Amino acid sequence: MDRTLLKEPVDIGRLQRFATDAAAVAGVRFFEPGPDTGKRVAIVGGGPAGLSCAFSLRRMGHAVTVFEARDVPGGLNTLGLSPYKVTTEFALSEIEPIRDIGVDIRLGEAVDHARLATLREEYDAVFVAVGLGPTRSLPLPGAELQGVEEALDFIFQAHTGPMVDCRVGRRVVVIGAGNTAIDVATQAVRLGAGSVTIVYRRGPAEMSAFAYEYELAKQDGVAFEWNVRPSAFLGTDTLEALRVQPVTAGTLEDAGEPRDIPCDQAILALGQTDILSGLKADGEGVFLGGDCVSGGAEVVDAVQDGKVAADKIHAWLNR
Ligand SMILES: Cc1cc2nc3c(=O)[nH]c(=O)nc-3n(C[C@H](O)[C@H](O)[C@H](O)COP(=O)(O)OP(=O)(O)OC[C@H]3O[C@@H](n4cnc5c(N)ncnc54)[C@H](O)[C@@H]3O)c2cc1C
Repeated sequence: MDRTLLKEPVDIGRLQRFATDAAAVAGVRFFEPGPDTGKRVAIVGGGPAGLSCAFSLRRMGHAVTVFEARDVPGGLNTLGLSPYKVTTEFALSEIEPIRDIGVDIRLGEAVDHARLATLREEYDAVFVAVGLGPTRSLPLPGAELQGVEEALDFIFQAHTGPMVDCRVGRRVVVIGAGNTAIDVATQAVRLGAGSVTIVYRRGPAEMSAFAYEYELAKQDGVAFEWNVRPSAFLGTDTLEALRVQPVTAGTLEDAGEPRDIPCDQAILALGQTDILSGLKADGEGVFLGGDCVSGGAEVVDAVQDGKVAADKIHAWLNR
């Protein structure tokens, strides 16, 4: 006999989404700052990790200032997620409750090593959550041609300006096969590219993109070139083709003759670079978390990192 009339598990995530959306529309305020502790914490980086840490610390009663290099808060949650998944407006609206409980978010304030040293003197603790840097480059002949660009710039443009102004090629190739590559490819399709091809030097079993993202790309009509290694960007001034060298699956050794894939836009999605420059938590008031430590995960991981860091910082302030 069925233990429940339900044929599927209760969709808890969607129920939470429904309840919190309704509460947000009604202007319900769930959280308040804690009683003032007199302690001050600086957060470097206003992405999910930095903001969740700031929010938690403020609820504990600490004064928190977030220093964010860009002129919009939220990090990749605001600018990096595909707009058809999360709009810029929605991402920004989720930051308002953080401001509402008194977190001071300062935009356009990039913190370098010299500034970090002064923050350590001015504040009781510092949390560094700067995320990762730009996409890794691919130093091939022709990499300077117009039409060769990096994934994050391509994705950011759909958040920072009108869709009609977004640059997209007629024939787009995306180099790499992680989740970012899929996001770039599906965004290119939605922006009106005539054809989009993902180029990867290994096979589908080795791609790091989630299976459902791969399915989405296939449904969007994205083509895949497996087991080919890009060897040159071809063209005069502007990109005309990507030369690829077929390789043997597994060994990556050259196999057969190079061939050219015609394209006017090639987008590099080869993973992001580290920007910490060796900075480490020092046990003396400097804490780190989020993508800059994990090497890149999901928003929920960064948010959890921020909460865990807030607990550690709180304990350190009360030592
Ligand atoms: C293209 C792409 C798509 C993604 N899609 C998803 C998705 O669909 N779902 C999901 O869960 N996750 C997704 N992720 C992953 C997710 O966005 C990240 O894991 C998460 O945003 C990491 O949070 P963070 O706070 O550590 O770093 P970030 O979000 O990178 O935030 C770091 C912040 O620090 C700021 N900063 C950097 N240097 C300085 C400095 N010197 N001074 C001051 N501020 C500085 C940056 O401007 C940025 O705002 C995606 C990632 C990418 C790249």
